[in-house]
Amino acid sequence: PASLRFDPDRVVRAPRGTHLSCRSWQTEAAYRLLQNNLDPEVAEDPQRLVVYGGMGRAARDWPCFDQLLASLRELGDDESLLVQSGKPVGVFRTHPDAPRVLIANSNLVPRWATWEQFEELDRRGLFMFGQMTAGSWIYIGSQGIVQGTYETFMEAARQHWGGDARGRWILSAGLGGMGGAQPLAASLAGACSLLVECRPERIAARLRTRYLDQQARDLDEALALIRHHTARGEAVSIGLLGNAADVLPRIAEQARAGGMKPDLVTDQTSAHDLLHGYLPQGWSVPDWEAAQADPARHADVRAQAAAACARHVTALLALRELGVPAIDYGNNIRQVALDAGVERAFDIPGFVPAYIRPLFCEGKGPFRWVALSGDPEDIRRTDAKVRELFPENAGLQRWLSLAGERIAFQGLPARICWLGLGERDRAGLAFNEMVARGELKAPVVIGRDHLDTGSVASPNRETEGMRDGSDAVSDWPLLNALLNTAGGATWVSLHHGGGVGMGYSQHAGMVIVADGTEAAARRLARVLVNDCGSGVMRHADAGYPAAQDCARRHGLKLPMQR
Ligand code: NAD
Repeated sequence: PASLRFDPDRVVRAPRGTHLSCRSWQTEAAYRLLQNNLDPEVAEDPQRLVVYGGMGRAARDWPCFDQLLASLRELGDDESLLVQSGKPVGVFRTHPDAPRVLIANSNLVPRWATWEQFEELDRRGLFMFGQMTAGSWIYIGSQGIVQGTYETFMEAARQHWGGDARGRWILSAGLGGMGGAQPLAASLAGACSLLVECRPERIAARLRTRYLDQQARDLDEALALIRHHTARGEAVSIGLLGNAADVLPRIAEQARAGGMKPDLVTDQTSAHDLLHGYLPQGWSVPDWEAAQADPARHADVRAQAAAACARHVTALLALRELGVPAIDYGNNIRQVALDAGVERAFDIPGFVPAYIRPLFCEGKGPFRWVALSGDPEDIRRTDAKVRELFPENAGLQRWLSLAGERIAFQGLPARICWLGLGERDRAGLAFNEMVARGELKAPVVIGRDHLDTGSVASPNRETEGMRDGSDAVSDWPLLNALLNTAGGATWVSLHHGGGVGMGYSQHAGMVIVADGTEAAARRLARVLVNDCGSGVMRHADAGYPAAQDCARRHGLKLPMQR
């Protein structure tokens, strides 16, 4: 099976334009989005079918990929294709309002849900890791992480700074694949930022792509630049070469002595992987990489990385004591520090309970859409439509104008913006009308990440610290997938292990096509309400007053809520 997974000669790119390879836009959409996930501009390692997130794949192997395309080309409007961990396994008679594709990826019976089981099955070609949007065909490149980080910083601004990030600065570390979005997201939110990164080439890459504005020579210069720009209310991002475990304690020490304090501190080093993800103190990067290549030194690398993480987290706690909001950004650094003896590591909240949950309570999450025409003009027009629909939403207005300037499209042109209950269906129906009136060159596909309000159970991340203690209950994402199937989404998926690994999460995906027909309008009106409505339901059930209010305002029928 390994040889079927690697094809050095494959270059995949979604078709553009209005000529259909499939029998309808419903199936054409899945056909294009599956290929778009493997576009070299989109995927991390397309020749191995890997889209993102470690080894998150779009299809089990190349023969399965080819058969998925062949099945989609033939699929009728009263048929549904079943996909089991990236392999097309059946085509069944359903009806025109049913999903055209039903996907289950990486699911294991709970007691078997370990990486060991996964690896054995994966090695034998019986399985694949679907991550979240890799195996459910709605990944859109780094725009997603930029916007998610932007929303997090905007919520921090709302909670701590009266909604205005001007004159504030955010301190963090890590300018890697995901962490590299931090400086741009901070700038878009209106704040300055200081990012510590130990690899010069990562800083250079972020400067080159304009995700980062400047590099400071040393900490003193970095702080002077921050002082200069925050005083003027300018949103400028500064990179600093160094080890976060050295720099953060120095900043905390200076702050304790009356020096500059950041307004928010977080971290996106890869502390979740102690062998490859966190540079120990006193080591050069080449020494570190040499030790990674020598199994006899692995235990030492891990121990020293853990000790450095412990110092880093101790500095975060010290800043927290000085009144600086500190959050864990989903990289498990708190757990590492706790294991290394930092007993109060979990005094630092996770970013979901701190900033994202209030949005989830309103049904807000990473709504996104893709122009099947391939024409960027279609996205410009839909951007304008969304701005027209929600004139009062300042954060969204700011995001859309800045995204239009600063986000380069990868693969088919796409846009993400967080919309909530009562907003997503308005946007979706407006897009459908634009298609019907010929204002767009082709239909639009609408979807979301699995990291969303009603679609994920993940006790170390999205459902950490639920008010009623229901963190690990995964009935909710299963109900979400069933509801979207009943409502007529175009494809629906159920996954396990995304984001945090085997045994730690279950989550569901949803994608729906706006092809300009009345039938699509009826489906959109159902699905785009129900999908995020089920998230409001989940949070209302857990006892969040904001979700209960939201449910009442929108007339959701929740039998046990009064
Ligand atoms: P990455 O491995 O690409 O980047 C990590 C960066 O940290 C690298 O550039 C590395 O050089 C740098 N680094 C390592 N040790 C350092 C140290 N001691 N000092 C300074 N810099 C150091 O990883 P990524 O894709 O950017 O993800 C970062 C982390 O964020 C991961 O743990 C990931 O799981 C987590 N994550 C969270 C979310 C979220 O939604 N919150 C999303 C994606 C990823």
